Amino acid sequence: VTGLSSDLDIARSVTPLPIMDVAARAGIPPEAVEPYGRGKAKLDLSAIPDAPDGKLILVTAVNPTPAGEGKTTTSVGLADALNRIGKRTMLCLREPSLGPCFGIKGGATGGGHAQVIPMEDINLHFTGDFHAITAAHNLLAAMVDNHIHWGNALGLDVRRIVWRRALDMNDRALRGIVQSLGGVTNGFPRESGFDITVASEVMAILCLASDVEDLEARLARIVVGYTRDRRPVTARDLKADGAMAALLKDAIKPNLVQTLEGNPALIHGGPFANIAHGCNSVIATRAGLKLADYVVTEAGFGADLGAEKFFDIKCRQAGLTPAAAVIVATVRALKMNGGVAKADLAGENVAAVKRGVVNLVRHIENVRQFGVPVVVAVNHFAGDSDAEFVVIAEAAEAHGVRAISCRHWAEGGAGAEELAHAIAELAEAPSQFAPLYDDDLSLFAKIEAVATRIYRAERAVAEPHIHAQLARWEAAGHGALPVCIAKTPYSFSTDPAVLGAPTGHVVDVREVRLAAGAGFVVAICGEVQTMPGLPRVPAAEHIRLDADGLVQGLS
Ligand code: ADP
Ligand code: MG
Repeated sequence: VTGLSSDLDIARSVTPLPIMDVAARAGIPPEAVEPYGRGKAKLDLSAIPDAPDGKLILVTAVNPTPAGEGKTTTSVGLADALNRIGKRTMLCLREPSLGPCFGIKGGATGGGHAQVIPMEDINLHFTGDFHAITAAHNLLAAMVDNHIHWGNALGLDVRRIVWRRALDMNDRALRGIVQSLGGVTNGFPRESGFDITVASEVMAILCLASDVEDLEARLARIVVGYTRDRRPVTARDLKADGAMAALLKDAIKPNLVQTLEGNPALIHGGPFANIAHGCNSVIATRAGLKLADYVVTEAGFGADLGAEKFFDIKCRQAGLTPAAAVIVATVRALKMNGGVAKADLAGENVAAVKRGVVNLVRHIENVRQFGVPVVVAVNHFAGDSDAEFVVIAEAAEAHGVRAISCRHWAEGGAGAEELAHAIAELAEAPSQFAPLYDDDLSLFAKIEAVATRIYRAERAVAEPHIHAQLARWEAAGHGALPVCIAKTPYSFSTDPAVLGAPTGHVVDVREVRLAAGAGFVVAICGEVQTMPGLPRVPAAEHIRLDADGLVQGLS
């Protein structure tokens, strides 16, 4: 590995298999493969033979910190390791957004020797899915304003339009806009704004739809706004659902790529994990379960947001039964949860790990509440000490869970074989999985269930107008939907500065939104940005094309 300084260097040092060979290794018949260049393909699911389902493995994590945890990296490492020990495994990941790619976070294709390739394609445009989603979203927005321009037969109240516009870019200038300025021919001026594409309800719909028919039905149910007497107006009322689905005809097909070790990966869809559910498409996960004995998939943020939504929204809606979960932890993240600043992470600090490990223990208890067996993957960073690992292993063991030190970042699949064996063993037992709450609980009681049992808050509170809004949606037939809570990913509480394992806090529901097409009610608790901004020094400043036409500076 000497001389290979960046993830991009490592990714380019490997000769990729032709995508048809990757498909053949995964048992995908050639007639199901629609190649996009040499290293990418879309899958035609109608040509994939039916088969018994494999086992679904979720990769989740402790609360994220600026130190980085490595969920994607560990998902890739685990999938490669399972393939190495002879278990036919499909990796299912989310597609990256351009926003974070040019902002702070960088790409989302794993790191070190545990990556999916071609990383510069996956991180930039890929097969165009996000652009198609953006177009479908903005077609509906255009049809809303056009409808009003030509007489507003549906009686939309221009002050109660909730459908904004979308763009896959971090651009704070577009968070709030005044549109339709310049005179009669340009429509009726009103306030609106843009959300990043990953926050679009169309993204959540694409990721939760079971097939093309369900996609169109969900698009039709999108509520774009309300009349003066507060009746909802939908995409179906505007006759936009058919054309939106047509724009998504290729985006709905999962994308096949490979890991650095030539193993198959489906990368498809990428909803936010705050105002949406944060996991790859149901269609890709189901295809993976048909094709392989194991599917390894990642959920966004920590287990309080990502795993809870994976279980309560995705698995509930799609009827999926997870067999086991990996909780990724790092010595660095637990030190930060133990009160250490990012600048002071170097050097052994057993006492800080001891203080911070309460965060991991809380996530272990939470995931087990869903009846899913757990193993902890300690993603090893250079400089972590054995004594620090032992603290984590003992804390996990005290809760009947194994913690395994994993070196896939440095060694590829070989570095995660012990984790692979542990997962294969855990997944043997019949699953006891059940979502946290029942469909027939009231919407607010569902919010309370997550707040008190997962976030361990004392209670959830909301203003009377929010209770009234939830009651109106229940009366309109949306009461059986699950809830999707948007809060800071950094803390179990709604205050990003409170690390560790807080109790006794209060979850304040500031706003609720109906995502009738996606099939959940969003509860916004604390500051949540649906259009991020770029940092003072964006990653974009260091990205360029070299003389050979190769992308440089992507991480
Ligand atoms: P997540 O999916 O949790 O956001 P990623 O897997 O994308 O995290 O990893 C975030 C960053 O951390 C990546 O740039 C990756 O290369 C780096 N990283 C992950 N694991 C390690 C490790 N063990 N050592 C060094 N860097 C790592
Ligand atoms: Mg990730």
